[in-house]
Amino acid sequence: MEPIIEVKGLKKYFQTPRGLLHAVDDVTFSIERGKTLGVVGESGCGKSTLGRTIIHLLESTGGQIFLEGKDITNVKGKELKQVREKMQIIFQDPYSSLDPRKSVDATIREPLVVSGRYKKNEIDDATRELMEFVGIDERLRMSYPHELDGGRRQRVGIARALALNPDFVVCDEPVSALDVSIQAQIINLLRDLQKERGLTYLFISHDLSVVEHISDTVGVMYLGGMVESGETADIFGNPLHPYTKALFSAIPMPDPDVRKERILLKGDIPSPANPPAGCKFHTRCSECMEICKHEEPQVKDVGNGHKVKCHLYDEK
Ligand code: SF4
Repeated sequence: MEPIIEVKGLKKYFQTPRGLLHAVDDVTFSIERGKTLGVVGESGCGKSTLGRTIIHLLESTGGQIFLEGKDITNVKGKELKQVREKMQIIFQDPYSSLDPRKSVDATIREPLVVSGRYKKNEIDDATRELMEFVGIDERLRMSYPHELDGGRRQRVGIARALALNPDFVVCDEPVSALDVSIQAQIINLLRDLQKERGLTYLFISHDLSVVEHISDTVGVMYLGGMVESGETADIFGNPLHPYTKALFSAIPMPDPDVRKERILLKGDIPSPANPPAGCKFHTRCSECMEICKHEEPQVKDVGNGHKVKCHLYDEK
């Protein structure tokens, strides 16, 4: 199947007083239509910057972004507006992403009005349909964000993101600000909407069990780069990169009789403004070899699209 989103060698650097911050550094992947790529990694690894750069909320520093086979990396003006309508984002904290002065109705109808594509009666109908679609009761139509609980606020955020019928949605930690009891409802809603509308998701989360549940493929990020990626079952069933192994060793086992050795990472994450030479993980890796300190590993496909960036898997 043709990928809907393709990213090749994507880079996003920020100039800071401490130097050039490599927030996203040479990231390559693709996502097929209707599928979900889950992106995991510690906070500060570049997950959110990656999502925002792909949908053009941030300008990329290098590399290419393709939407349905078309290079959209440097689109401007009217083309940029069209691209932005096809790619939306659901934010982590619905409270801060919604305008406190706008009612549910005004929040959802705003993108429809701004697009200039619809007549007044069409906007009324579409707003009502969207509310029903995401499960917001009609009686809450004129409520304000502070009058809603977290789950309902996130439903409003989702309705707003879907208003213009996008193809691709970045879900940036969409449930981490919600109570655990509400998280499953929102995850199920996102899955149902995906099925109904054929949506493609980039699902960013630090919660590994949520990612395992919702994703078709998974990418593991460390210091701005993707160190391992592949089918969800392969990544969770057979993690290969020492960083992925350490990250996954912290997942609690459902069976208390099954013990798993926790791999503790030594040291702090190095600054993305001054990343280590060679393998960026070498300062914390328990399997570090001499070559790792000066030579950056290449990405290797070990089969079934399972890719790993580590010298342990170099051809001997
Ligand atoms: Fe560890 Fe070397 Fe692999 Fe990097 S390349 S993860 S330092 S073994």
